[in-house]
Amino acid sequence: MPSVAPGNWVGKCTFGVMENALKVRDIAACLEAWAPRHLAESYDNVGLLVGEPSQVVKGVMVSLDCTEEVVREAIASECNMIVSHHPLIFKGIKRLNGSTDAERAIMLAIQQGMALYAIHTNLDNVLTGVNHQLAHVLGCAPHTHEILRPMAGGLEKWTVFVPTDHAESVRHAMADAGAGHIGKYDHCSFAASGTGSFRALEGATPFVGALGEIHRESEIRLEMVVRSEVTGAVYTALQDAHPYEEVALDRVSLENGRKDLGAGMVGELPAPMAWQDFVDRAKQVLGCTHVKITAPTQPNVQRVACCGGSGAFLIEDAKRAGADVYVTSDIKYHEYFQAEGQILLLDVGHYESEWQTSGLIASKLKEKFPNFAVRLSTTRTNPVSFR
Ligand SMILES: [Zn+2]
Repeated sequence: MPSVAPGNWVGKCTFGVMENALKVRDIAACLEAWAPRHLAESYDNVGLLVGEPSQVVKGVMVSLDCTEEVVREAIASECNMIVSHHPLIFKGIKRLNGSTDAERAIMLAIQQGMALYAIHTNLDNVLTGVNHQLAHVLGCAPHTHEILRPMAGGLEKWTVFVPTDHAESVRHAMADAGAGHIGKYDHCSFAASGTGSFRALEGATPFVGALGEIHRESEIRLEMVVRSEVTGAVYTALQDAHPYEEVALDRVSLENGRKDLGAGMVGELPAPMAWQDFVDRAKQVLGCTHVKITAPTQPNVQRVACCGGSGAFLIEDAKRAGADVYVTSDIKYHEYFQAEGQILLLDVGHYESEWQTSGLIASKLKEKFPNFAVRLSTTRTNPVSFR
C-alpha cells in the first residue's frame, strides 16, 4: 500500500480535465465497492451523512475523525468532501445550535456545501481494511493475514442440475462470475453424476425430450458456494450458460463464517521476536509514547492478533487463534484479567491503533481516481495525551 504523508496531495488536481466531474456518489461507490455499507455493525452510522450524492467534488480530505477543525482545514484546502473513519453523527442529534464540536462541524459543513462521509465498521470488517493495515505495520507477513472472528451469513450453497455435456461450461461461467470462492481458492465446486427426469408440458420448448413424455437425462449435480455480493452476477451467468428452459436450482443459506469478512486480524511475524522488541516496534510504528501491557507469557512472540479501535470483545478469539500477543485499544481494567497468563495484551490507544486508516482510505481513492485531488488531514484529532 503506498504511503501518503499527511498534508500532501495524493494525485494532482486536474479536476475538470480528468475524471469528468466526479460526484459525491462516485466517491461513495468506490468506497462501498471495497467496504459495502451492509457490513457495518448495527449500532454504526456509515455512508453519506451530510450532502447530496449528485454534488460535484472539487477535492476530498481524508481523516480519522471529523471535527470542526478538520472541516476548517478542508475549507482552507478547497476540499468540499470529507471522508472520515469515525462518523461525525453517531448516536443521533436532537438539535443543531452549535453547543458541541460535532454540532459546529455539521453546521459549518452544511453552510459551506461540504459533504461528510463515514466508512467505519464496514471497513473494520473487510480483509483489506483497518486491521489489514494494522497487521501490516506490526510486521505480519501479508500471506498470513486471517480474519480473527469470521462473519456469519452472507454465503449460500447453490446446487444446480446440468446435462452432463454442459456441466463444464456452466461450472466455468458460474466460477467466472464469482461462484466457488473460498478463502485463498476460487473455482471450488463439487460434481456428482446421476439421472434427471422431467416431462415438458404444453407451451414448453424443451432442450431435449418431447412434449408430454417423461424424459430421462444424464446430468451432473453441481454444487458451489456463492457470496451474497455476487449472487446477481452468478445467477445471470448460470441462466446464460445453462441450456434448459427451466433451470433446477437449489439455493440454501449457510451459517459458515466468511474467511474474507469479519472482525480483527491474526497473522505471523516472519520470525519469532523478543516480546520487548515487539512492544517497542508497535510503539514506534504506531507513534505511541506509552502503552499498557499485561504480564509477558513467554520470551518471544510470533503469532500476532490485532484489532484497530476498541477490540476487547475479541480477547477470547485472539486466545483461541493461538496468538502470542493481542494489539488493540480501550481495554478496561477487568478485561485485562482475561489474559489469564495465556496471551500478552497490548493496549496501544484508540487513535494510535487507527490513525493510519486515513492513509489506507486515501490510497484506495488514489488507486481508483489517480488524477483526482485527495488530501490527508494534518489535524491531530486525538483527544488523549500523556504526561
Ligand atoms: Zn475507532
